[in-house]
Amino acid sequence: MRRSRPPHRLPPIVEAALCEIFGSAVCRVRLVPHSWYARLHGRAAATTRRNVIYLRGSLAQFAADPALMLHEYFHVIRQWRPRRLTLVRYLVECLRHGYWNNCFECEARDFTNAHLQRVMALLQQKEASPTQAAVRRVVSFRNMKESYGSRRSA
Ligand SMILES: [Zn+2]
Repeated sequence: MRRSRPPHRLPPIVEAALCEIFGSAVCRVRLVPHSWYARLHGRAAATTRRNVIYLRGSLAQFAADPALMLHEYFHVIRQWRPRRLTLVRYLVECLRHGYWNNCFECEARDFTNAHLQRVMALLQQKEASPTQAAVRRVVSFRNMKESYGSRRSA
């Protein structure tokens, strides 16, 4: 039996903030970090297809960039998923209006501008919640113990 690799997931806090904006569909979007496919797209930090976001860099870099996340999840959930965005439509739009002014990019930028403050506030709120703070304290205590243990045995 072939085992599939575990999916790449955003940190729970980040995923929860995005779910408040886009709904649970966020959890079904596949993320591909360090993607050669993304690198084929010039200097773009990410590129999307139906239900997938290909990242040039790491998942951590993506998770640290709320504007980029909003932009890419918008393409996938609000454009690819309802099939408003297809490769052919995108190429036609690019030929007519260029990359910057094509309607799919304009919509994604407008959406990002409209929701960036909210997602930033959600991220801060969730980071500051007592449960998350407690989880972080336990994790950092464990890491401290582990690193102390490994230093000791070296
Ligand atoms: Zn875009």
